Amino acid sequence: MRYLTVDPDRPDAQIVRRAGDVIRRGGLVAFPTETVYGLGANALDASAVARIFSAKGRPTYDPLIVHVLNAAGARSVARAWPETAERLAAAFWPGPLTLVVPKQPVVPDIVTAGLDTVALRVPSHAVARAILKAASVPVAAPSANRFTEVSPTRAEHVARTLGDRVDLIIDGGPTTIGIESTVVDVSGERPTVLRPGTIPVPDLAAALGALDIAVATGDGGGATARPSPGMLDRHYAPRARLHLFDERSRGYAARLAVERAAAADTVGAMLLTGLDAPVRHALAMPNEPAGYARALYHALHTLDAAGCDLIFVEAVPDTPAWAGVRDRLVRAARPAEV
Ligand code: AMP
Ligand code: MG
Repeated sequence: MRYLTVDPDRPDAQIVRRAGDVIRRGGLVAFPTETVYGLGANALDASAVARIFSAKGRPTYDPLIVHVLNAAGARSVARAWPETAERLAAAFWPGPLTLVVPKQPVVPDIVTAGLDTVALRVPSHAVARAILKAASVPVAAPSANRFTEVSPTRAEHVARTLGDRVDLIIDGGPTTIGIESTVVDVSGERPTVLRPGTIPVPDLAAALGALDIAVATGDGGGATARPSPGMLDRHYAPRARLHLFDERSRGYAARLAVERAAAADTVGAMLLTGLDAPVRHALAMPNEPAGYARALYHALHTLDAAGCDLIFVEAVPDTPAWAGVRDRLVRAARPAEV
């Protein structure tokens, strides 16, 4: 594995060219995007994409997001480009929005887990864009972490968890958004949010004008809500167990923290206001959604590295602006058996 550092705003041209070459030759490159670090391969090369799945230990039923430079690049791998795609792309690309559209046959089945649709995103990060340009192919890139583990927001997270499974790691500093993109399926009759991110649903609805938008519940959903593959899994989870608490369960959480600390467990916490208990590693989290999203995965990586057995996490508000962060916290707290 090679590890090369670039300026996040003006990446070195030679390093970028090298990353493009590795991708074009069928290799794997980890690179920063504005959401999280991606593990990229040539999306049109089935055996290169197969290497992503084996490096991550990701089951092949979980489809990948394909990254392109612009909407024209997206249309070139889409079999249809509905008005809803056009409106959302115009409003949010480049940026943290992924659109699911019918796919062209040129996109190998392994990329889409055999689905007839493909998930497409146009990233805004200068390093991601430079690498896409140098590779001059669409780049399939899931988060650069082992399956179900915490996504990387820094190159050191990638190096620690994927290390030698990757040909090249490009370090472009911490990512600015910090959680994965909002995924909207526009391939069906009604646009459906498959995964919340940092774009609030009311903003998506506003960009769609009169068109209605649905939100997939992830539990099989309503008549129109189709859950996204991979959505039900425990995901984004640290090694430590997460215990989510809210106002009602604050007292119980504090008693449990006291008990676990007395039993010699290493206790951590991610707090907005506080917890009346002895917590060895307490992190004060930002009390607004963008800051929280940016800090979230690094906090989980840090508490894991500190050897925490149990992390108490104060629940965030149940509002559209916090939906992406809430989703990640709930899934990280899900028991491993589920
Ligand atoms: P990531 O792990 O960030 O690469 O996110 C990929 C996620 O996007 C998958 O787990 C799915 O939830 C969603 N996704 C990708 N492709 C499709 C598709 N064709 N249809 C529905 N959801 C998709
Ligand atoms: Mg992921």
